[in-house]
Amino acid sequence: MAEVLVLADHFDGTVRKATLELLTLAHRLGEPSAVVFGPDPAVIEELARYGTAKIYAVDAPQDGVHDVIPKAEGLATVARESNPAAVLITSSYDGKDIAARVAVKLDAGLITDAVDVRAGDDGTFAATQQAFAATYTLTGEVTRGTPLITVKPGAAAAEPSPVTAVVERVPVTYSELALAVRVVERSVREATGRPDLGEAGVVVSGGRGLGGAEHFAVVEALADSLGGAVGASRAAVDAGWYPHAHQVGQTGRTVSPELYIAAGISGAVQHRAGMQTAKTVVAVNKDPEAPIFELADFGVVGDLFDVLPVLTSLVQEV
Ligand SMILES: Cc1cc2nc3c(=O)[nH]c(=O)nc-3n(C[C@H](O)[C@H](O)[C@H](O)COP(=O)(O)OP(=O)(O)OC[C@H]3O[C@@H](n4cnc5c(N)ncnc54)[C@H](O)[C@@H]3O)c2cc1C
Repeated sequence: MAEVLVLADHFDGTVRKATLELLTLAHRLGEPSAVVFGPDPAVIEELARYGTAKIYAVDAPQDGVHDVIPKAEGLATVARESNPAAVLITSSYDGKDIAARVAVKLDAGLITDAVDVRAGDDGTFAATQQAFAATYTLTGEVTRGTPLITVKPGAAAAEPSPVTAVVERVPVTYSELALAVRVVERSVREATGRPDLGEAGVVVSGGRGLGGAEHFAVVEALADSLGGAVGASRAAVDAGWYPHAHQVGQTGRTVSPELYIAAGISGAVQHRAGMQTAKTVVAVNKDPEAPIFELADFGVVGDLFDVLPVLTSLVQEV
């Protein structure tokens, strides 16, 4: 079976959910393999649990080096040597930066922000993208070199498929350029105890209907009762009620949780672009004509300040 190489994104011994999704996708397309930087046993174990038959363990650059260019060099080295049928990378800022550099190094075509990838009978890979806030769907394929495809988180549900992985160490001598950017300071965002927005199974988002920053407490309470993350519409973020890191939509984060609850959000096309692949959407809005109801699986026409606290206590009782 054709080898499909995945760039593994991992931090502190944990493989990011988006990488596990890529491995499931790779499994559908061929034989998944992965590139990791610095062989961490916990990372290798997790990759094998999700079906990675071969793991290329590339020497990590020294501490303090900004790792986008080194990762591009390491990934290009592995891709040149292993000649995979395709390379899948998470569509994050860093992922797309790395993918573009690798495409130039390999003189190969690149498709970004795919929401699905399918294998054709002739060995080609068709990548689906959505354009203009998902008004259009288009399918494309790379016609030159090893296809490089960045895939948005949530494109596939990660499914374990345990295998015994073969680990191959890949020594890489990084160029001077790769070591030219150093991280001079790193600060960790204050932990909220809530899951990351992009990885959460449940997301509860608040919009302009909340009327003020202080009212996000009702959204947070419901999110906490469900073990979920908190999102926000751009209107709420622009008003300064919630940090931009929580914005869901075209110019914010893309989320694909099992459950998305939109409270006081009208459902503008730019908001929907970031959440419409959620498995179940619940909308709470006092306007029965709000466009969010067109997309919602369950809708409550009512005041969110009445509905959310009741919902929170019902969940807490379960
Ligand atoms: C280029 C571009 C990019 C954009 N990117 C994004 C993006 O990434 N994310 C995003 O969200 N938007 C984005 N927008 C903005 C988008 O067009 C909308 O303006 C925005 O999503 C509206 O946010 P909202 O639904 O919170 O506010 P509104 O549209 O004002 O809706 C508020 C809703 O709350 C309801 N409501 C009010 N009070 C209550 C109550 N007490 N109980 C229940 N319901 C109540 C109202 O009925 C209304 O439906 C973008 C716009 C542009 C032009």
